[in-house]
Amino acid sequence: MAATLCPIEEKWSGAIASLLRPPPPLQVQEYFDQLLFDRNCSSIKVKQENDFGKGVYADGDFEEGELILKDPILVGMQHSSNKFDCLVCSFCFRFIGSIELQIGRKLYFQSIGVSANGGCDGETFSAVSKDCYDAGFSHMEEDSHLRTHENLENCASSSSSKDNIPVPKEVVDSLMNGGLVLPYSTEFPLPSAISCPGGCKEAFYCSKSCAEDDWKLSHSLLCTGERSKSLSREALSKFIQHANGTNDIFLLAAKAICFTISRYRKLKEDYLKEQEKCPSANALDRSDLSLLLEAWKPISFGHKGRWWDCIALPDDVDSSDEASFRMEIRELANTSLQLLKAAIFDKECEPLFSLEIYGHIIGMFELNNLDLIVASPVEDYFLYIDDLPELKKKEAEIITRPILDALGDDYSVCCEGTAFFPLQSCMNHSCCPNAKAFKREKDKDGQATIIALRPIGKGEEVTISYIDEDLTYEERQASLVDYGFECKCSKCLEEQP
Ligand SMILES: [Zn+2]
Ligand SMILES: [Zn+2]
Ligand SMILES: [Zn+2]
Repeated sequence: MAATLCPIEEKWSGAIASLLRPPPPLQVQEYFDQLLFDRNCSSIKVKQENDFGKGVYADGDFEEGELILKDPILVGMQHSSNKFDCLVCSFCFRFIGSIELQIGRKLYFQSIGVSANGGCDGETFSAVSKDCYDAGFSHMEEDSHLRTHENLENCASSSSSKDNIPVPKEVVDSLMNGGLVLPYSTEFPLPSAISCPGGCKEAFYCSKSCAEDDWKLSHSLLCTGERSKSLSREALSKFIQHANGTNDIFLLAAKAICFTISRYRKLKEDYLKEQEKCPSANALDRSDLSLLLEAWKPISFGHKGRWWDCIALPDDVDSSDEASFRMEIRELANTSLQLLKAAIFDKECEPLFSLEIYGHIIGMFELNNLDLIVASPVEDYFLYIDDLPELKKKEAEIITRPILDALGDDYSVCCEGTAFFPLQSCMNHSCCPNAKAFKREKDKDGQATIIALRPIGKGEEVTISYIDEDLTYEERQASLVDYGFECKCSKCLEEQP
């Protein structure tokens, strides 16, 4: 199979090389010092060790259990399949709506046979999510059920809801439209869901500021609503459909590209304004490429290699088929890129639309430790009911028990996604780490939260485990292949055969 030639790669080879060149150590240091300063985080430092990459070091003492760092997301997304289980803010990933709406949506999707466990193609996904919008935020029409059923005929249905005892459709409806208020749900208030200002009915937010920030940062280009700034909403829908049907990380790669384009446009605007103000004083004549490099900088610290080169070979692919497997992955990325290009191409940012850059962006999300998890308030709610004094509990359970039975075993699924955390991604792995990513009760959004596992002294490196550190030596080394390194931590050196 011949590799597809990427014409942009030939035309922009110099620019692409500049984008992919590791930033000089001084620039790295400046960037992270500024980032830590902006985050009001004075007790850690990012250090660049020439050949060994970056690391995070304690710049003060930490006690066991102490918060080391909160790291906001640079770009992130909720996995497509998880959207059936959790309604969260598309920007900060906080749960939104109400306990009733969270439960009602989940029961609604169960009733029509979709859940996180049931695979779904992109078209069905977007049809269903649009239906859910209608269902959750206006009164549901009888025929929207029927329409969705037709859409779902070819879609794998849920396997987990078989043993659940469904509640009547009227109950599901009134959970979603606010007609039914569950006992004690006011103890778990959630921010109301704000629709996307672009009118896509697919993105929702916890606040106006999240909606505005997401719009500015990337969503204006990726919105399928009538106020979309994309070149073609139809092309955009095709791209989204392809990603939902193949690998939803393409959606995150698109966000990273839009993030860079938006930053570029802002930098260019500021630069032109500056030039207009005092044209003579401007000794620094900035080219479009230098602005693009500046816009790309936050991403430039994250990428490590091309997706198709770095992805671990799946168990069911024979090693003799490795070359054609990698070629297929590359072709898949190329198909996705061409669909994205038709939707949001920007001539001034053309190098971003090369397969080389796209491959590195996707690789960045596959090669870093990037799980985005937010615990569900639905779990807390049912635990609260379970902990009530006997009499109150009995009374509440008259209403909540049938709902819990209908939800079944997976009654509370976390918000799950992938995100790039600029500081957490600098933390190196150890199989006997001194810190871990851990959400405390008060951590309700998608930010990474790093907590000390034992006392850490000033100057010590802060490490986390990318994998389950209780695995055997061989299993650990095998799991770490995905991250592209061989672990030489003290535990591994000790257990090495
Ligand atoms: Zn939010
Ligand atoms: Zn939108
Ligand atoms: Zn190790």
